[in-house]
Amino acid sequence: MRNEHNEAEPLQAGETFRDEVGIVTGEGKRQWIYPKQPQGFYTRMRTILSGVLLLVLVATPFLTINGHPLMLFNILERKFILFGVIFGPHDFPLLGLALIALAVFIILFTAVFGRLFCGWVCPQTVFMEMVFRRIDYWIEGDYRAQRRLNEAPWNARKTLRKGMKYALYGVISFVIANILLGWIIGGEALLRLVTDDPSKHLGGLTAMLAFTGGFYWIFSWFREQACILVCPYGRLQGVLLDPQSIVIAYDYQRGEPRGKLRRNQQRTEGDCIDCHLCVDVCPTGIDIRNGTQLECVNCTACMDACDEVMEKIDRPRKLIRYDSASGIASGQRRLWTPRVIGYSAVLSLLVTLLVLLLAHRSDIDVTILRTPGMFYQEQPDGRVSNIYDVSVLNKTFKRVPVELRLLGTHGELRVIGDPFAPPPQELAHGKIMILLPRARLVGLSTPVEIEVSAGGSPVKVVETTFLGPGGVQ
Ligand code: SF4
Ligand code: SF4
Repeated sequence: MRNEHNEAEPLQAGETFRDEVGIVTGEGKRQWIYPKQPQGFYTRMRTILSGVLLLVLVATPFLTINGHPLMLFNILERKFILFGVIFGPHDFPLLGLALIALAVFIILFTAVFGRLFCGWVCPQTVFMEMVFRRIDYWIEGDYRAQRRLNEAPWNARKTLRKGMKYALYGVISFVIANILLGWIIGGEALLRLVTDDPSKHLGGLTAMLAFTGGFYWIFSWFREQACILVCPYGRLQGVLLDPQSIVIAYDYQRGEPRGKLRRNQQRTEGDCIDCHLCVDVCPTGIDIRNGTQLECVNCTACMDACDEVMEKIDRPRKLIRYDSASGIASGQRRLWTPRVIGYSAVLSLLVTLLVLLLAHRSDIDVTILRTPGMFYQEQPDGRVSNIYDVSVLNKTFKRVPVELRLLGTHGELRVIGDPFAPPPQELAHGKIMILLPRARLVGLSTPVEIEVSAGGSPVKVVETTFLGPGGVQ
């Protein structure tokens, strides 16, 4: 259809597989892909899921819990909200651990299910195949009509269709840019940005235009190259997949030797009638019959196309199906390989650690350290005092009054200056003085405990030491 390679004769056993990329011509130029519009069970399921995902994507920046965003990924201010819980730069260790756990999860998921994510959930595939490609079909027709229109000289009809298509691309790119910005700055800030005087939001509007331009370029021109040439996940498939991983695979045992279907002739070939439809629908321009290839984004189009053909020729469906290389070769697939067991164990450990850290994460963090360079002071009433530097970190959405109380030493704790009440997501610094009767001192260094209360409820006890003259009565 569009790629000379794809129309090549079937590869014979022992013959080398292709050494070229389907989206590049022999002269090194871009091979524009015109995929036939897919239809069938998997396409319908993916369309429904894409609708749900797009709804979630658009609605989430505007959802709130107790007046705060449900989700926010404000990279610029290093402020993240996940399901209503706010995380800041102080949560960097948690974030690091979560990212490591995510990486292990992706490796494990890919080892078991291959590129299922790419075909069903990846925003690039959802937008490309379910939004922009649909616009192509709607305005320009199916693949042959699109190719004819592209090759036709410019006239009123071509100008109108191309103009409509690219105008629609522009509008949708603008909407996607707004959604992305909403995820970064929040729905409320986004609404302010689009309704306020533009001169007050020059930075935000510039970002919006830059995102719009980026999306327009990706979906109107770059397209499948994002998956094939740029996406690191796609590039890593060679090391992430193994013979037991589920991929979209052609059953060569059943399909080969392929051969055209001829009327009134006893068929001696395999089930593949070499109709080329699985290649025609492929949005990355490959022939899945050549085996698993890095360009395959698991979009399921070839499965649908082949199932339809199999139904028509009265053969069982699933000549192209979800299966592993091992499943196709021997009919057997092992789930619990040593690799999967190892990744599962590491992931369980990481998730347990993450859950424990999250469970022990308090809304207020307090650090109390004796002021550097200060020893102890002897007070006129006979008591001994120490001065401490206090840092109070408020991880919540509201200003929280924080009280400190000395536990069980018959001493006194005085706040020097204003009481601690750090604003949301900020660190407050201050000093306290602790006074102890000499009789309570134990050697040069006496352990003391300070109870921290936030908003009237105890949140933690901080242990520190108190310096004294050393057992003097
Ligand atoms: S759609 Fe099925 S029958 Fe047709 S060429 Fe592809 S694998 Fe063979
Ligand atoms: S080979 Fe099949 S599943 Fe893979 S990208 Fe092409 S059409 Fe989609």
